[in-house]
Amino acid sequence: MIYKELSARKTIALVAHDHKKDDLLRWVDKHRDLLKDHDLIATGTTGKLVEQSLNLPVQKLLSGPLGGDQQIGALIAESKIDVLIFFWDPMEAQPHDPDVKALLRVGIVWNIPMACDVATADFIMSSPFMQNTYKAELTDYDAYKNRKL
Ligand code: PGA
Repeated sequence: MIYKELSARKTIALVAHDHKKDDLLRWVDKHRDLLKDHDLIATGTTGKLVEQSLNLPVQKLLSGPLGGDQQIGALIAESKIDVLIFFWDPMEAQPHDPDVKALLRVGIVWNIPMACDVATADFIMSSPFMQNTYKAELTDYDAYKNRKL
């Protein structure tokens, strides 16, 4: 088994679809004291709103439908994001639905904690692993990378 050691200060990615942005803003407000100890990165509009609300710096990528979800996915694949809080809207189709699916998939490929609703996000933030180092198991993809075609 191979592992990836996460530091106590984590990089948390935040994404919320338009009808879920209020939920996310309430959630970041509830956890503002804990979030201060981590680095925040977000899709464009989500990031702007979170930055205004928390008065903390947020690294802002492109808006989700313009490629922001794919940018977050790429950063997960590069081990630059430790936790994903992704409040996607189960009641409305999105123009970038394929990107949503791709982001959820890449989070599983790299075994990062992901929350898609408020309750799971609360559980993640209250985990002792958020304030401490964490040794995450990583699937060994060598056999896949070296497969004979
Ligand atoms: P936004 O993108 O933060 O720019 O609104 C979120 C999304 O729709 O993925």
